[in-house]
Amino acid sequence: MKKHNFSAGPCILPHSVFKEASQAVLDFNNSGLSILEISHRSKDFVSVIEEARALVLELLGLKNKGYQALFLHGGASTQFLSVAYNLLEKKAAYLNTGTWSSKAIKEANLFGEIVEVASSKDKHFSYIPKNYSVDNSSDYFHCTSNNTIYGTQMKEFPSVEIPMVCDMSSDIFSRQLDFSNFDLIYAGAQKNMGPAGTTLVVVKKAILGKVSREIPSLLDYQIQIEKESMFNTPAVYAVYVSLLNLRWLHSLGGIKEIEEVNEKKAQLLYSEIDINPLFKGFAAKEDRSMMNATFNLKDNNLESVFNQMCQEANINGIHGHRSVGGYRASMYNALPLSSVEVLVEVMNELERKA
Ligand code: PMP
Repeated sequence: MKKHNFSAGPCILPHSVFKEASQAVLDFNNSGLSILEISHRSKDFVSVIEEARALVLELLGLKNKGYQALFLHGGASTQFLSVAYNLLEKKAAYLNTGTWSSKAIKEANLFGEIVEVASSKDKHFSYIPKNYSVDNSSDYFHCTSNNTIYGTQMKEFPSVEIPMVCDMSSDIFSRQLDFSNFDLIYAGAQKNMGPAGTTLVVVKKAILGKVSREIPSLLDYQIQIEKESMFNTPAVYAVYVSLLNLRWLHSLGGIKEIEEVNEKKAQLLYSEIDINPLFKGFAAKEDRSMMNATFNLKDNNLESVFNQMCQEANINGIHGHRSVGGYRASMYNALPLSSVEVLVEVMNELERKA
């Protein structure tokens, strides 16, 4: 039986994507060749990466608006430094909402002055700071839209007059936003886009070319744009599986449709967390993430019985991150509502038993 997979990433992808992806390993496009053995410069693969880049812009509503989608290497973590390499001349403004923002700040610090406009570290990153101001003389403003570890999510973004850069690794393609408010969006693929191994960067070309430093070619967005993500061999298979997943989302009707499902899943789980006297949520209610729900058992003695019940119900991957503890149920796009129903039923059953 298939597990109910709440893993935080790499995570569940649609079954149809797994099926088509496995077929392409054996025979890609009826070519008699595996996708793993063809050149990245072959016509078949070039059309994969071109379609993937176009679909990204279409799904985000950024077609013909001066943006380019790139599939790069090195995970979102490499973008922590690439962003600064390409955009930071003197000073940049960062919002610190957790582990990943902190890591982005650490890397950017190597390149210039970093002003932390606000931080939620005082309360173990359980909320999103509000009412901060951003100095418009900064080179850019950086934020993390969804904090995978703590289960918080930005519901609003500041309006700034400087480029806005956002790490959307764990909520890209999950909810409607006016993506044209962002000048650079990046995301490791391994949540809502595809498998681990490639990193999406969507960048507005007009913000580039303004720093005076020399940028190593591989990290230079302008070179990557010019080379159409083929400066070196791209992660062929990860890009292909991402394309299958993007096609799946497109065929469902796009972000608007998936957002409705995501809202239903999150509402179902959070209402159980709030109603069930055995549990308490970790994140501030108004900042709760639709993707990663973090919660705890009020009585730690119930942990082993709850864990056992989850295991028997085929629930996978709900242990909290080692820095937060408790539980984290990740509800990415491909997780069906029925999996959340199963988890909620187990939580109910625990209440009846306890
Ligand atoms: N940012 C966020 C919000 C993340 O959740 C993660 C990884 N889970 C990262 C950055 C780091 O991504 P990567 O492992 O692709 O470097």
